[in-house]
Amino acid sequence: MRILITNDDGIHAPGLKSIASVAAEFGEAIIVAPDRERSACAHAMTMREPLRVNEVKYQAAPVKAFEVNGLPVDCVNVGLTIGWPDGCDLVLSGINNGPNLGFDVTYSGTVAGAMEGAINGIRSIGVSMAPLSTEKPIDYEIGAIWLRENWDDLVHLDLPPLVFLNVNVPNNPPKGTRLVGMGQRVYKDRVEMREDPWGRPYYWQGGVAVLDGAQPNTDIQAVRDGFTSVTPISLDWTDHEVLKRLQKSFE
Ligand code: MN
Repeated sequence: MRILITNDDGIHAPGLKSIASVAAEFGEAIIVAPDRERSACAHAMTMREPLRVNEVKYQAAPVKAFEVNGLPVDCVNVGLTIGWPDGCDLVLSGINNGPNLGFDVTYSGTVAGAMEGAINGIRSIGVSMAPLSTEKPIDYEIGAIWLRENWDDLVHLDLPPLVFLNVNVPNNPPKGTRLVGMGQRVYKDRVEMREDPWGRPYYWQGGVAVLDGAQPNTDIQAVRDGFTSVTPISLDWTDHEVLKRLQKSFE
């Protein structure tokens, strides 16, 4: 099995080492990852600057590895050009340093890496560690174990074209796996105003995720209940029910 690995936390990220170690057990893997952290870059791509690619020695796993001065989408496309010019069987993105639940999907560079794989017609999976508190450091080994145990299912699940998987693993050994939809994760206090030493205001964007109320059958609820969530996400963003209704009202 030919595997392309990317992430948005950069080539030195511990989560990349974990996912590469697992991938190398199941096939021939090539890492093409950003040379620095690029979290929350979504599906952006670099178009006005050249992409520079360096092969790097990767100690953590028996894989070829390249760093790119670009974003996850750039890395997937560079990887398909220099790493797997005849195509590959799987694109893995992660393991991300934090959850990609609910609306996070729209900001996530990790998810965008998988999205780009799906656009290229390749089975693609984004994997994130999803601690819901900062109590203990992220344990990527939990994600690696889950990935290894569920590898066969993940690569054989019957997926239509242009659908990829978004996986969130809790930061404690999961109670199991739930196939679920995308929940609603909204942030409060999204923008915080501070002052620089000269009294001029500046702004930090971040905020605290609000996870009020039960959200049955969602990624958020699954992780909150201690399960790994697996969500199929479609590149077809059309709301087909609304489309039908609108078409009727225009008749
Ligand atoms: Mn990240």
